[in-house]
Amino acid sequence: MKRLLVLGGGTAGTMVVNKLRRRLDRVTWQITVVDQNDTHVYQPGFLFIPFGGYRPQQVVKPRRRFIPDGVDLVLGEIDRVDAAANTVVLADGRRLDYDFLVIATGTTPRPDQTPGMLGPQWRRSIFDFYSLDGATALAQALKSFTGGRLVVHITDMPIKCPVAPLEFTFLAEAYFRSRGMRDRVEIVYATPLSGAFTKPIASAHLGSMLDARKITVESDFLVERIDDEAKTLVSYDEREIPFDLLVTVPLNMGADYVARSGLGDELNYVPVDKHTLLAKDHDNIFAIGDANDIPTSKAGSVAHFSVDVFADNFCQRAAGQPMTSSFDGHANCFIESGDGKGLLIDFNYDTEPLTGTFPLPGVGPFGLLKENRRNHWGKLAFRPMYWHLLLPGRPIPLPVHMSMAGKHQPDTKEK
Ligand SMILES: Cc1cc2nc3c(=O)[nH]c(=O)nc-3n(C[C@H](O)[C@H](O)[C@H](O)COP(=O)(O)OP(=O)(O)OC[C@H]3O[C@@H](n4cnc5c(N)ncnc54)[C@H](O)[C@@H]3O)c2cc1C
Repeated sequence: MKRLLVLGGGTAGTMVVNKLRRRLDRVTWQITVVDQNDTHVYQPGFLFIPFGGYRPQQVVKPRRRFIPDGVDLVLGEIDRVDAAANTVVLADGRRLDYDFLVIATGTTPRPDQTPGMLGPQWRRSIFDFYSLDGATALAQALKSFTGGRLVVHITDMPIKCPVAPLEFTFLAEAYFRSRGMRDRVEIVYATPLSGAFTKPIASAHLGSMLDARKITVESDFLVERIDDEAKTLVSYDEREIPFDLLVTVPLNMGADYVARSGLGDELNYVPVDKHTLLAKDHDNIFAIGDANDIPTSKAGSVAHFSVDVFADNFCQRAAGQPMTSSFDGHANCFIESGDGKGLLIDFNYDTEPLTGTFPLPGVGPFGLLKENRRNHWGKLAFRPMYWHLLLPGRPIPLPVHMSMAGKHQPDTKEK
């Protein structure tokens, strides 16, 4: 019997076991997935909780429900991987041997990494929305906010869903307007990037949307510490941003066991070949989803597209053949912009987000880097798609590899 062990039963790990259970012979292959708890959270839903759009219970389901028959779910905290012995050790001492290992333990917000963030102001005037607890507590804080300076802040890149802080900012602006208190709220967007986003064309587009909404951008802002008493963010170059309400995205880091096992970079991400997702230093370990170091967005859509490529490669490798599929870094993200509208970006390692229509040229129905209602409905449709199609590994009518169909080349004018 060959043993495939998957670490992490979140977005990527769940898709992996669903896809591979169908393709790997049950007599020959044992598949096991490990996670620290039995609660699967739909993280894109965190964005809507602070504004009352979703209730916390709408983004949570039992993990077990999405693990197919023929896959063992082991609940326990991973302590370390002993790659030389092909063994994983859990915190309670249990050992799980493997022939192939898939690391899919994602990335986690780490407020403990910034001095002052977890001080007395944490969850009083300092909040995050990258955790269920944080998003839920923030809903209450926004409700009782009577005005002042709201600072939306990114500690450092990379973060999962790099557009989420922008979406939060647009939604907050619309929220204060709808409550008739926009004139009493100053909104500041503090980012370590030199603009609104990582890629130039999207950055210019999204930056002009912040301008139009009278949101101040503090770019190249790398926080060193938070002065809790003065309620001020302090950067390494000694700039200060005072706040009445701070909504921060803490440093995102891969799991600590990755570092303990000697498998990670300085942020605990597993270095992999960006086309095959095979670990650079181990020929029987793959890393999928947010846990790896590939140079594209950390997003559920990336996990989805890459799992399809991975599954083909894995089956070839397991059969002793060369891996022939190549992941292109395809990412596809809806961006909420407030007032029931949104944008869409679609890009890969080589092509930055461009304007145009998606998926069909001229027809869409979605607009690329263009605000419209259809993109907002697309974003909302993602939640049922996630539970019913993506997690169970069912096919969806979107190309795995990014297509140029419908995209405008950078030098052509947007219609
Ligand atoms: C606010 C927000 C908005 C987002 N919006 C979007 C969006 O609109 N579109 C999009 O595509 N993506 C979005 N994302 C990103 C998306 O949710 C993630 O990229 C995706 O969930 C990554 O999947 P993953 O399997 O790599 O990690 P996860 O789904 O986070 O799964 C990791 C799993 O590993 C487990 N684990 C970790 N450490 C251990 C350990 N030591 N022992 C045992 N188990 C462990 C965890 O319990 C978890 O179940 C958003 C994320 C956030 C936070």
